[in-house]
Amino acid sequence: MTTSTLPPDAAREASGRRSSRRVAALGPVPRWWRDATGAAGWAVVLGVVALWVAGGGVQELATWSGFFLSTGRLTGLVASALLLLQVILMARVPWVEQAWGQDELVRTHRLVGFTSFTLLVSHVVLITLGYAASTSLGIWGTTWDLVVGYPGMLLAWAGTLALVMVVVTSVRRARRRLRYESWHLVHLYGYLGAGLVLPHQLWTGAEFLDSAVATAFWWGLWAVTAAAVLVFRLGLPAWRSLRSPIRVLEVRTEGPGVTTVTVGGDGVRHLPARAGQFFQWRFLDGPGWSRANPYSVSAAPDGRTLRFTASHVGDGSARLATLRPGTRVLLEGPYGRLHGGIRTRRKVLLMGSGIGITPMRALLEELPQAPGDVTVVHRVRSAREAVLADELRVLATARGARYLQVEGRRIDGRESWLPRQAAHLTDTRALLEIVPDLAEHEVYVCGGDGWMTAVRTAALEAGVPSTAVHLERFAS
Ligand SMILES: Cc1cc2nc3c(=O)[nH]c(=O)nc-3n(C[C@H](O)[C@H](O)[C@H](O)COP(=O)(O)OP(=O)(O)OC[C@H]3O[C@@H](n4cnc5c(N)ncnc54)[C@H](O)[C@@H]3O)c2cc1C
Repeated sequence: MTTSTLPPDAAREASGRRSSRRVAALGPVPRWWRDATGAAGWAVVLGVVALWVAGGGVQELATWSGFFLSTGRLTGLVASALLLLQVILMARVPWVEQAWGQDELVRTHRLVGFTSFTLLVSHVVLITLGYAASTSLGIWGTTWDLVVGYPGMLLAWAGTLALVMVVVTSVRRARRRLRYESWHLVHLYGYLGAGLVLPHQLWTGAEFLDSAVATAFWWGLWAVTAAAVLVFRLGLPAWRSLRSPIRVLEVRTEGPGVTTVTVGGDGVRHLPARAGQFFQWRFLDGPGWSRANPYSVSAAPDGRTLRFTASHVGDGSARLATLRPGTRVLLEGPYGRLHGGIRTRRKVLLMGSGIGITPMRALLEELPQAPGDVTVVHRVRSAREAVLADELRVLATARGARYLQVEGRRIDGRESWLPRQAAHLTDTRALLEIVPDLAEHEVYVCGGDGWMTAVRTAALEAGVPSTAVHLERFAS
């Protein structure tokens, strides 16, 4: 492990005071946002269950056909509500995004998605059984009758097929085999599916035919979902990118396979970005421009420029090295909650591995701090591969922070944040040797999945509460 000893004069310039003032205006993320958005989600689910009860759902359970029809309706209602909630979770609504963070939202979206799909399949089976029990058409005759004989049912079947496609391609094994863009394109069919399966409930559902309140509730939920997508997913990013142009200012090679891109322009002034956050970046430099890639800012946003540093892992990131100054940029964001607005403690540990150090570099620059408050741990395979190491040393010196590089290859056969030469230590012991009062720290972590899990586990064992450990995943 090596510690910084560089005291360059240039560091004063990078002391972060300017951006700290700017960010103070953005303020902390209110903690009640999490409670309020979580409660709103549960209220929607309880609301549809209440509709089912109010529509006589419980009384109908007395007979076999009633049992199937009534539970079929309940599963359909809850499945649809979850489908809409799933869309809202990924609509980039700022209060939801800032309260939960992308990582947790993606995990919840996945869980809610599979639950909703399971309930949707149960709904189809139960309703078919319910109708079959009360007619002489048999299962197949009833199925046919349900498809062609009721309004909105053909649309619902088409929507179900779209959702089947989305679910099948999202199962982990299938997902790994698909290119990101192919998976993403198929995933967009989820919106079509959600749009097609919902109308049949209003046209045929017993809860809605008799109750204006239920109909208003359902339309309201649907309208809120559509508005969230139109405003936050499409409108706001388009407006922010188009009203004042943002262009590439500089493209710099950091080392083999790593590029730093700086952009600027009037449009940047209006973006409420903080260190540690990320944007979806599109560069209008020819074919492939429509594809967005997420990158975290690698310097504290100063209201005039934004910067990120990327390693080349595929076509999209390799292309960055060939960008030319003046290229127009479209941005979506800022997103992510790995920033100072969620900080609750004075002392901070910033841990980055590989390219995951880039948001830590921005945080080191921006976080308000007194000398000794912040420690940066930079995990690298070799010092030669340490991205942005010189900048980190300069900044650490200027801000009175500690910067340590932890260098070496991984330990074989053990999921650990440590290198081989430290294999005799436990993950927690090693962390406490670097930061003895770790329990009093806020911990920010970015790197590979296994590495982050090892850091998190060690931090929790050392006494840091889980609410003070924050991770950012660089993978979807
Ligand atoms: C929140 C976040 C912040 C990130 N910040 C940085 C950063 O600061 N520096 C950096 O080097 N890398 C960062 N990444 C990773 C970076 O986005 C991918 O390496 C890059 O998009 C790969 O694109 P590609 O075309 O080069 O490679 P591909 O071969 O197309 O993709 C390789 C892998 O990258 C991921 N990926 C690709 N496109 C996307 C996308 N549009 N959205 C989400 N994941 C995608 C997928 O897991 C894919 O399997 C970040 C990722 C996320 C999710």
